[in-house]
Amino acid sequence: MKRYFVHTFGCQMNVNDSLRMGEALATIGYRPTPAPEQADLIILNTCAIREKAEDKMLSALGRYRAIKTQRGALLAVAGCVAQQEKAKLLARVPYLDLVFGPDAIGKLPELVSRVAQDRVRVAETAWIDSEEYVFPRADPGSSAGKVSEFVTVMKGCDNVCSFCVVPHTRGREVSRPFVEVLEEVAALATVGVREVTLIGQNVNSYRGGISFADLLLRVAQVSGIERVRFTTSHPHDLSDALIDAFRRERRIAPHFHLPVQSGSDAVLRRMRRDYTVAAYLERLATLREARPGIAVTTDIIVGFPGETEDDFRATLELTESVRYDNQFSFVFSPRPHTVAGIKEEEWGSVPHEVKVERLERLQTIQRRISAGIAEGLLGRDVEVLVEGPSRTDPSRRFGRTPENRTVNFEGRAPAGARARVRITRASPSALLGVESDIVDLPPIEPLPRRIEAA
Ligand code: SAM
Ligand code: SF4
Repeated sequence: MKRYFVHTFGCQMNVNDSLRMGEALATIGYRPTPAPEQADLIILNTCAIREKAEDKMLSALGRYRAIKTQRGALLAVAGCVAQQEKAKLLARVPYLDLVFGPDAIGKLPELVSRVAQDRVRVAETAWIDSEEYVFPRADPGSSAGKVSEFVTVMKGCDNVCSFCVVPHTRGREVSRPFVEVLEEVAALATVGVREVTLIGQNVNSYRGGISFADLLLRVAQVSGIERVRFTTSHPHDLSDALIDAFRRERRIAPHFHLPVQSGSDAVLRRMRRDYTVAAYLERLATLREARPGIAVTTDIIVGFPGETEDDFRATLELTESVRYDNQFSFVFSPRPHTVAGIKEEEWGSVPHEVKVERLERLQTIQRRISAGIAEGLLGRDVEVLVEGPSRTDPSRRFGRTPENRTVNFEGRAPAGARARVRITRASPSALLGVESDIVDLPPIEPLPRRIEAA
């Protein structure tokens, strides 16, 4: 029996793609191994969003080279770096056997067989930028025992944010037909999944036969599904219909990740984000009015070319005024093929020390805000969808609140149940608590494979 090992870098899209790779490899008799030293095939599923991510993958590649030499394992690079570098990567890394892009996952069995049998080195990075693209279908069997799963609803991105390499590595937007999405969700529910996160680079520009708001409403109606989440969104597509879906359907979980990137209109213009801070705040206010208590998180880039101290202060002010539950903040990293990467010097490159100092100032403020929000939960009851034992302390249970806060707690609720938990300790990264009640248990019988709302 052959074994494979996948090392995944980057976002949920990559995590999900790695699962699909595993399922494709199973069709030619490969089984997973947690130990790269035992693998016959090692795949690095890569991220190109920032230079650091690329550096990490290059150093990992060096480590796996030794295993290749010892065992004769095949070595492959997949994901965004593969798509960005294409066949050039085979020339740069002479011990690499296979390079394949995100659209070639379905062809993986054929590619691996060619490399293994014909002893050739292969680069497969063609895009399928059309409705002919067939989304790899998740095998519900590999989700058995899981409470929460990702479901792909679209691929690619048609936006042109000047800092971002994604349109170059993931191609044009293609939406997955809504019936296919609903079938996959229904199949996951039959094996016990109760929460799904719909994923894509810009999910609210979804066009798979119905609007994204309608897709969320329909997914929320699938038998057995208790919570629906999604990621990630561009503020300019945050429609009234989507906000209204939050008002109407409590199963759409009250958490919105809405990347703002900067609090300065001048920087947003150079970023080509096509909204102003005022327009962003207006959307957020409408959303909060529709679903009071909704958790809001964001992404921010500091040190974007030309960012002045005043621009940066505007980002600090925005952070204070919105009171994000959490934010993911990064220093600007110039990327190949991007406008900001090319124009960095012309717009005014921000020195590295200034970028790092700004990041630290921003993160200090966010830590204080997140700690304040967490402390506000002390002594209160929250509803937790239980995912299983705690990873840090197996005597405790682990789950998430509707707002996507992680909770470790003393209790007995089984995976898939919803429990009421009294919060006894609170920090920005995790909550601790004690179970006070079990709200509901997961369904006992396997659910019929039907879509109630389609
Ligand atoms: N589609 C999402 C959106 O529109 O905001 C973003 C997806 S991107 C994979 C995740 C985050 O990485 C972005 O929101 C941005 O903050 C960050 N990012 C992207 N390119 C970057 C760059 N060149 N340097 C630093 N951070 C970057
Ligand atoms: Fe990148 Fe997101 Fe902009 Fe698309 S919308 S180009 S993925 S930052």
